[in-house]
Amino acid sequence: MATLTQSSAGLLGLSMLDRIGNTPLVRLDRVVSHLPGIQILGKAEWVNPGGSVKDRAASAIVLDAQQRGLLTPGKHLLDATSGNTGIAYSMLGAAMGFPVTLCMPANVSPERKKITSAYGAHVIWTDPADGSDGAIRKARELARTEAEKYFYADQYGNQANWQAHYRTTANEIWQQTAGRVTHFIAGLGTSGTFVGTTRRLKELNPAIQCISMQPDSPFNGLEGLKHMATAIVPPIYDPALADRNLEMETEAAYSMAKRLARTEGLLVGISAAGAVAACLRIAEELAARGEEAVIVTILCDAADKYLSERFWED
Ligand code: PMP
Repeated sequence: MATLTQSSAGLLGLSMLDRIGNTPLVRLDRVVSHLPGIQILGKAEWVNPGGSVKDRAASAIVLDAQQRGLLTPGKHLLDATSGNTGIAYSMLGAAMGFPVTLCMPANVSPERKKITSAYGAHVIWTDPADGSDGAIRKARELARTEAEKYFYADQYGNQANWQAHYRTTANEIWQQTAGRVTHFIAGLGTSGTFVGTTRRLKELNPAIQCISMQPDSPFNGLEGLKHMATAIVPPIYDPALADRNLEMETEAAYSMAKRLARTEGLLVGISAAGAVAACLRIAEELAARGEEAVIVTILCDAADKYLSERFWED
C-alpha cells in the first residue's frame, strides 16, 4: 500500500515526522466558476498530524535544534505562539520525549487551550491586550532569566522556520502544478510560510507573482496572522520579497469561511478563508484584464478550532 513505508531499521508504517508535509492540493471550483481561465488551488495543511501548516516549521526547528545540540535531554522547548505552532510543538514533544513550555495570549480559542494541555504542554498565559507581542516578550524574558532550563525555539527569528517551506512547501507546489503556478498567496504570521515558499518559487520561475496577506488592523480576528506595521516585526520577515501585499478585513474572511463550507464542502480556518478571499480579489483583477492564472494558496488549518466563533451561526 502507498501509505506503508519501511524504514532502514525495518519498521513498518509512518512515524510522526513522516506524516508531516506532502499535503494535497485541492481545487476551489465554485469560488472561481464565474472567472474563465482562472484556477484557485489550496494546500490542505490540516492533513498534517497536528492539523496545521505549522507542523512543517515546528518539526524543522526541533530537528535543527537537536542536530546542533541545543535541544538536549532535560531541556524544555520554549516559544511564544498564538496556537498552531504551540500545538505542533506539544505534539512533537509528546512523540519525541521533550517537555514543552508555551507563552500564549490568554484569548486564543478555547479549543487551542484544550489541545495543548491534552498533549501535556505547560502554558504561560499572557495579557490578551498585548497580543502576540506580549507572548514574545514573555518568552524572551524567560529565555534570558532561565537559560539553563530552556531551549528558546524563537519561531519568529529562527531560520529553520522559513527553510522548512523553502525545502518542502514550494517544491510540492511546483510539482503538484507541473510548474504551471502563476501566483502564490499566503498570510503573514511569523512570515515563515511566505518567505520560504516565495524564495524557492522565485528560483524555480522568477515570473511567479508572490503576494502576502495580512490583517487590515491589529484588532482584526484573523487568528495566527500579524499586522506588520504595528507588531514586533519578525526578524525572518523580508518585505522586499512580496510583489504585492494585501490587507484583509475580518468580515471578508468570515464570509469566505462560510462560503467555502457551504459551496465547496471545505471547513477551513479563518486565516485560510482570508487567504482565499485574497486569491479571489487577485483572480477578479486578472479576469478583468482577460488573463489566465493558476493561483496557489495555503489553507493553514481546518475550522474545528474555531467552531465556537459566533459568525458561523447566521
Ligand atoms: N494561519 C494560521 C492559522 C496560523 O496559525 C499561522 C501561524 N501563526 C499562520 C497563518 C501564518 O503562518 P506563518 O507563521 O508561517 O507566517
